[in-house]
Amino acid sequence: MNLDTVIAKIPDFPKPGILFYDITTVFKTPAALRFCLEQICSHFPAEEIDGVVGVESRGFIMSSLYAHETQTPLLLARKAGKLPGKTVSKKYALEYGTATMEMHVEDIVAGKRYLIVDDLIATGGTLAAVAHMIEQQGGEVAGIFSIIGLPFLQYEEKIGQYRIITLQDYH
Ligand code: 5GP
Repeated sequence: MNLDTVIAKIPDFPKPGILFYDITTVFKTPAALRFCLEQICSHFPAEEIDGVVGVESRGFIMSSLYAHETQTPLLLARKAGKLPGKTVSKKYALEYGTATMEMHVEDIVAGKRYLIVDDLIATGGTLAAVAHMIEQQGGEVAGIFSIIGLPFLQYEEKIGQYRIITLQDYH
């Protein structure tokens, strides 16, 4: 499956000069969505993963499918202020300003192995923040899965120590 033919490229979104890779076109193409699910399941067999962490918001979709298919617990990494329980949080730098990700403290169990899922890796800042929270609570990051990778933004510098699987890279 050539995902590139399915992924829409939207120029000047959300700001002039930015080319946005739109994966809603993957979601509305059943064969492409099934391909992504087969890939994540083959790279990360259920017996190696104790919990799958979906990153708000587009990461929720693939992580949900994986959780259902493999019967793995689904945990959410959300933007600050959205989770009702006791949380662990990690602030990280954006191009302009900062953002904060949060997880429920009780979702991360020391010694357990977690797969983190998002739709696109740009600078790797978001995933580094999520990985930090998992490790801070004593969990292990078993891997990172993303449909798209933008390696030219040097995400390896932030998350290169982890096993990263992307299905479509743009250079
Ligand atoms: P990073 O923290 O790696 O710099 O940014 C990754 C986050 O930004 C991901 O959660 C992703 O959803 C979002 N993002 C940045 N650029 C794009 C894009 O072109 N397409 C999509 N779908 N998401 C993007």
